Amino acid sequence: MGQVSYRVLVVTKPSEQQSIHNGIESKLDEIVQLMSTYVSDSQVSQFNDLEINKAFKVDPKTFEVLTLSQLISEQTDGAFDITVGPLVDLWGFGPKARPEQIPDPMQIKQSFQLIGFAAIKLNIADVSVLKQKYRRIDLSAIAKGYAVDEIARYLDSQLVSAYMIEVGGEIRLKGLKPNGEKWRIAIEKPQTGFTQQILTTLVITDISMATSGDYRNFFEVDGVRFSHTIDPKTGYPIAHNLASVTVLNKDCATADALATALMVMGEVDAVKFANEKNIAAFFIIKTDDGFKQVSSKSYKILTNEK
Ligand code: ADP
Ligand code: MG
Repeated sequence: MGQVSYRVLVVTKPSEQQSIHNGIESKLDEIVQLMSTYVSDSQVSQFNDLEINKAFKVDPKTFEVLTLSQLISEQTDGAFDITVGPLVDLWGFGPKARPEQIPDPMQIKQSFQLIGFAAIKLNIADVSVLKQKYRRIDLSAIAKGYAVDEIARYLDSQLVSAYMIEVGGEIRLKGLKPNGEKWRIAIEKPQTGFTQQILTTLVITDISMATSGDYRNFFEVDGVRFSHTIDPKTGYPIAHNLASVTVLNKDCATADALATALMVMGEVDAVKFANEKNIAAFFIIKTDDGFKQVSSKSYKILTNEK
């Protein structure tokens, strides 16, 4: 995670607000210190700097995110891959400065040797991680969702009965607002620039929601847009007509990772995958004259869509 903004709304007593605020901040600090590749001595950065075939003991939280990441990589046939970092850097979306230019195809080809989640081995017996080949871990596509879940667990432990947590656009909701209503969450129209227009509003609770889109973080060369989501199979930023994917799921880390994976798959495979695996997903697809919306079966059921 680089700089991420967050927002938490809790229904609680005024006297408890300060301590809850401090508790949330310390949870976020902890996750950044463990998992950010923007912090040079974070646990993940330390692992990235380590030589191959050396077991590295990690915090149980880091281990949990790595385990979930590997599972989702397997389930999505590598569309989600936390070792995609060298390509992210090559395309200029990593912690280093952004080149804003298309890399040399030779360099892209060479990067393939540095990528592949299967060379990361997790050992539950001593909570350690090891790389069998050169690999760098980048948890950017799942850590925001995990941070949301951690804050939720913290608020649950403080017996907070209703909240809206948002970290870098990923959301988790619980309970009802003081007026007795569910939370209202807007899905934006995909557009660049500063204006934001609402496409649809969901009235939901007791669920997480994550969105992956190609219209917030990208650069353009000669009118072609290059997204920060990379297809690990081609080595190129995704280039298809999916403008955004929103996933609803119980936990936010899974929603976050799945949104990125579906984005990589592209509209045809992603809609099929979501329907087969019962993923509640909402797709915004670019058409010649604007956008069209597609909802997976589970999404329709969850949102009472007719
Ligand atoms: P989005 O919300 O658009 O999905 P995220 O912030 O969740 O974006 O994830 C994008 C970041 O994840 C990228 O900046 C990069 O660091 C990393 N990333 C890019 N492509 C992949 C991928 N295929 N699998 C896992 N992580 C990726
Ligand atoms: Mg994501």
